[in-house]
Amino acid sequence: MSYEKVWVNNEQLNKNERNKLKKDGLSIFEDIPKYAQQGFDSIPKDQYMYFKYAGLTVQKPQDKGLFMMRVKVPTGILHYDQAMTLAQIGNRYGRGTLDITTRQSVQYHWIPLEKLPAIFEQLKQVGLTTSEAEGDAPRNVVGNPLAGIDPDELFDTRPIVTRVFHFFQDNPDFSNLPRKYKISINTNVYNAGHAEINDLAFTPATKIIDGEKMAGFHVKVGGGLAAKPYLAKQLNAFVLPEHVIAVAEAVTILYRDYGYRKSRARARLKYLVADWGIKKFEQKVFEQTGPLPEAGKDEIKGWNGGFFFGSHRQKQHGLNYVGISIPVGRIQADDFLAFAELAKNYGSGDLRTVNSQNLIVPDIPDHNLDLLLQDPIFKRYPIHPPQFSGYAMACTGNEFCNLALTNTKDRMRELAEALDHEIKLDVPVRIYMVGCTNSCGQRHIADIGIQGLKIKTPNQELIDAYELFVGGSLISGGHFNERLKGRIPATRIISVVRQLLLFFKETKEPGEHFFEF
Ligand code: SF4
Repeated sequence: MSYEKVWVNNEQLNKNERNKLKKDGLSIFEDIPKYAQQGFDSIPKDQYMYFKYAGLTVQKPQDKGLFMMRVKVPTGILHYDQAMTLAQIGNRYGRGTLDITTRQSVQYHWIPLEKLPAIFEQLKQVGLTTSEAEGDAPRNVVGNPLAGIDPDELFDTRPIVTRVFHFFQDNPDFSNLPRKYKISINTNVYNAGHAEINDLAFTPATKIIDGEKMAGFHVKVGGGLAAKPYLAKQLNAFVLPEHVIAVAEAVTILYRDYGYRKSRARARLKYLVADWGIKKFEQKVFEQTGPLPEAGKDEIKGWNGGFFFGSHRQKQHGLNYVGISIPVGRIQADDFLAFAELAKNYGSGDLRTVNSQNLIVPDIPDHNLDLLLQDPIFKRYPIHPPQFSGYAMACTGNEFCNLALTNTKDRMRELAEALDHEIKLDVPVRIYMVGCTNSCGQRHIADIGIQGLKIKTPNQELIDAYELFVGGSLISGGHFNERLKGRIPATRIISVVRQLLLFFKETKEPGEHFFEF
């Protein structure tokens, strides 16, 4: 399908929008080999924004020719050759480290410009891509990391994720959206795909049609975090698996053509949905798809936060999956390689990345389970992690992120380890730390969210500090956490969170969670 750029004359366009009209973001792939040959200084600064479309951000300090690079992993499923390639790239070009992100992607740092063509070729050989992992385009499709093996899924979403991924991937009709665009497709009844914080989410549902119980989806639109967070709202529609593409296309066309392009701060789909209201948005979707059956029965039963620690039965008889803790999502490439080898030796070779920044090894036959778990790597990456370290998440933070105000991963790890040492609870408490209001580490849905900022001391020195937010959850449609008064200097964050948790421990009922409806 080709389309008119209907928004061009609609309103005043911001600077990014004017630049995007000069050149499609995806064309950066044609330029990168030339820049790789000629060196970092040959890249005009006004071209940096287009690198985002190749999943690349110029890493700070911005004069060293190094990049942060993100690889998409739709619904978190990696085959053996893909996992091996990701580990090799980390070892050869990423100084031996990689991060698992909150969108199930894999992220590197220190990637040298001159190595990019070789890296793209390696990824292509195994069917992986960095394309549109950033930029104003459809990002990685997230979903159930247990798709196809999950006793708690309504049906296997792998074929649907694959179709949606290929429909949008590198599709020039959708490579210039007002801003980033996040899709979730999941039928795990514990909302493993975090539907409510995505722009477009397909959630498990059933409906009796012509006397027959059909399994399909409900649809939520307009969710997102950052400074002004919104929970996605549900359309009154029941969508059969074969109609997912049509609905996804319709929603994305509305966003592309009517999403705001004047201010980037108001460019996400959530603002359009909020301004139009869900009824008008729904009507506009139906104008494109034709009538859809009204919503049926919501099959979501709760929310698991995206945590799958321990060994568990798959829906396939005699097979198990193992959920492993990767503290704050950072793992040595050698260890990632070791997990790929373990997956091959004891399972099918697949690995799965989780939006809680953890890993799953699936397809382990009963007779191999104990053998697998005897491997010494599980001492460093446990399947039953210490309580706070296991349920901690952190965004990239000021080590590498150009927008960060504070450190996150090291500080979060330090905090979690201190709490593990000092406090024992009968329920997990999820603590997520972010380095700015963008909330890539999803602090809004944490039991305790910690957000970095700078404050001035009485003698005018600028220091790292944090704000605390309590009571976030995606249970029953979701609730964002709420800010506690005060700004806490980084040096005091451990003692303040410790006090908060000790108060919780002293006052809670047995089994009571940090936040409950
Ligand atoms: Fe960077 Fe802010 Fe996102 Fe953290 S939340 S990765 S600091 S943009």
